[in-house]
Amino acid sequence: MKITMAHGAGGEAMQRLIKNVILKHLSFNPKISVEVALEDLDDSAVVEDIVFTTDAHTVKPLFFPGGDIGVLSVSGTVNDLAVMGAEPLALSSSFVIAEGFPLEDFEKILESMRQTCERAGVPIVTGDTKVVERNALDGMIVTTAGVGRRSESLDRNIAVVRKHREFEGRWLKDSNVQDGDVIIVSGSVGDHGVAILSFREGYGFESEVCSDVKPLNKMIERALQEGGIVAMKDPTRGGLANALNEFAAKSGVGIEIFEDRIPIKEAVRAACEMLGIDALEIGNEGKIVLAVVRECADAILQALRETEEGRDAEIIGYASKGVRGVVMRTSVGGRKIVEPPLGDPVPRIC
Ligand code: MG
Repeated sequence: MKITMAHGAGGEAMQRLIKNVILKHLSFNPKISVEVALEDLDDSAVVEDIVFTTDAHTVKPLFFPGGDIGVLSVSGTVNDLAVMGAEPLALSSSFVIAEGFPLEDFEKILESMRQTCERAGVPIVTGDTKVVERNALDGMIVTTAGVGRRSESLDRNIAVVRKHREFEGRWLKDSNVQDGDVIIVSGSVGDHGVAILSFREGYGFESEVCSDVKPLNKMIERALQEGGIVAMKDPTRGGLANALNEFAAKSGVGIEIFEDRIPIKEAVRAACEMLGIDALEIGNEGKIVLAVVRECADAILQALRETEEGRDAEIIGYASKGVRGVVMRTSVGGRKIVEPPLGDPVPRIC
């Protein structure tokens, strides 16, 4: 068997590659305390109370409407730390650059990284630079890693959860969702993938849709202060469909969502219709999905809406023992199973 694009697409093929190949070789029992491990396949790991994550960025093209690989590489790692409930502290960045790459473009990317770091309040403190032959790589790959720590806001958030129901563990893992929890999305879905696809292929929707790429740690901090969040995810590759299926599978509970409550921009809807792709399967880089205690849902929704990043937040459904997997009530009154996407309708967007 050979690796295909589907193996990197964030859907089922990638899940199989990770579980059957990567975990098979890399898993072992270490002597240190690993609270959230490789096998959890969560947004970050937690080792000796340090939250730790890494991401390689291969977006094509490097500059796109609403951002570039610099904004993306900083935001993606900051967000993966923040959705665990952690306070992001610092990042590393490694550049693999193709021979012949314009210095001017490299400086633009570095400037974007600095601006995004400033917005998030998280510095890059270490890194590496390599150059490879021009035929070995298309432009540049940027890999970032990040560390974060426990914050008072996370402790406060969990204390609020425990006023309403039992809650084991100390982090916001995908496996924490229970029957009755409310599902919130922090804004419109599909923007990032559609903006890149449209710009790359010249479909013309990019004049109306920009990538949503941005660091979300400040919005998340605000929601944690409100309290009552049990799990969070950034619906990147595989989109909302994949994020919800991960919640459902890892938590062992069904999720029911309502089509007419999911925020999708008109231009994204039109692009998806024309291209025959599903907005729920398209990657986002500036949104989160939250599972929250029912009693706290309205207050968290309000807290999100008070932030610039979360002003279009909506309650889109709830976790339910009554359904298996992820089920969507459609606008016309039907029921549709939302499967984890097999491949990615839009490759190389992150
Ligand atoms: Mg993530």
